[in-house]
Amino acid sequence: MLLEGKRALITGSTSGIGLAIARAFAAEGANVMINGFGDKDEIKAICAELAKASGATALHDGADLGSVAQIDKMIARCTSEIGSPEILVNNAGIQFVSPVEDLPPEKWDDIIKINLTAVFHTTRLALPEMRRRGWGRIINTASAHSLVASPNKSAYVAAKHGVVGFTKTVALEAATAGITANCISPGYVWTKLVENQIPDTMKARGLTRDQVINDVLLAAQPTKRFVTPEEVAGLALYLCGENAGSITGANLSMDGGWTAQ
Ligand code: NAD
Repeated sequence: MLLEGKRALITGSTSGIGLAIARAFAAEGANVMINGFGDKDEIKAICAELAKASGATALHDGADLGSVAQIDKMIARCTSEIGSPEILVNNAGIQFVSPVEDLPPEKWDDIIKINLTAVFHTTRLALPEMRRRGWGRIINTASAHSLVASPNKSAYVAAKHGVVGFTKTVALEAATAGITANCISPGYVWTKLVENQIPDTMKARGLTRDQVINDVLLAAQPTKRFVTPEEVAGLALYLCGENAGSITGANLSMDGGWTAQ
């Protein structure tokens, strides 16, 4: 199995893209620490499913990535309970849809904290041990919004552009240490994050639910279908392999052609 014996920490993996990545890694034998919010029993069941698939360990840490102290504790716990992460997937993210002038400042702060600043903290804490071992994979879930903007998503677009700049810098700093750092930039993937922004987009643009799905979300995507979490997970898995050792500092689009336009 591709990841047998490897240790992976995937943030924001109790649902959506992160969960699909955790499943893909576990299916290849990785020990995984998942992170994110959700129902306790559901999370317990996810961990049991992952451990069964991998034949290895699957743990959950409920760190709120808006808190540096909780990120610190999560990395320390991962290190003591499964070993320091050799594969770090920074995937947790939140969204808030509003014109700039109505965007509550605390929503701006939250989005920057969780979508961008947390990526800095997990990376700075995981890197020293990756360097010591001479191997590491850092995979950051950015977005098509790391390349192009859409109205009403200023904080999200700013954070995702920031993640790409940060990832490039880490890739250069770690280039000779056997560590790669890359972004995956999906277009619209049908997850809670997308579903939850539909009502606000309906309000902000005065549209129906179907109009938001077809005329706003899928309008940008030439394939006229949502990217699947499993497609994103497949690319994350590829980036962990030895054949991906020369892919670093890249921002890999998986957006059904959105940003080709
Ligand atoms: P999701 O809402 O299904 O998953 C988000 C995950 O992050 C959940 O596990 C949630 O519990 C966790 N999370 C949220 N706030 C957190 C916090 N403060 N601390 C710890 N965990 C937290 O959404 P998703 O669509 O799977 O999003 C995953 C990533 O993909 C995000 O970074 C998002 O920006 C990015 N993305 C999503 C899409 C899309 O269309 N769904 C497109 C491009 C990029």
